[in-house]
Amino acid sequence: MIEDLLKKALLKNTKQRHMILSIIKSEKKPVTAEEIYIKLNKNKGNINLSTVYRTLNILSEKNILLKILKEDGTASYQINDNLHNHYITCYKCHNSILIDKCPIKDFSEKISKDTGYVITGHSLQLTGLCPKCSKHVNND
Ligand SMILES: [Zn+2]
Ligand SMILES: [Zn+2]
Repeated sequence: MIEDLLKKALLKNTKQRHMILSIIKSEKKPVTAEEIYIKLNKNKGNINLSTVYRTLNILSEKNILLKILKEDGTASYQINDNLHNHYITCYKCHNSILIDKCPIKDFSEKISKDTGYVITGHSLQLTGLCPKCSKHVNND
């Protein structure tokens, strides 16, 4: 499956890419570059952090990965497949919750029909105020 992802994006299946993708794939939530780096080195991956960053950039440029940006600027990554997830992040406490349906799928199929583009991926990140934090705002 990782091989297929790389092949579709016309990327070479290097050891680093494969290791990074399999870590992201095994996680149930989006992971940051640092988290990936720590896991890699537990597995004696011998990959430095800047390589992790560079690889993540390439993979998200090619839409293999979905990059999720939090308000504080940290980026986390997940595989951009049909089973990918979207999140709402609270801009105050940075808590994220999962949106269990992809709202873009039908839209993206329509755009594909209208424009003739083969759409290979998308990213969507919702930001807001969670119920807990909005309670505090009202009490202020
Ligand atoms: Zn909050
Ligand atoms: Zn989606």
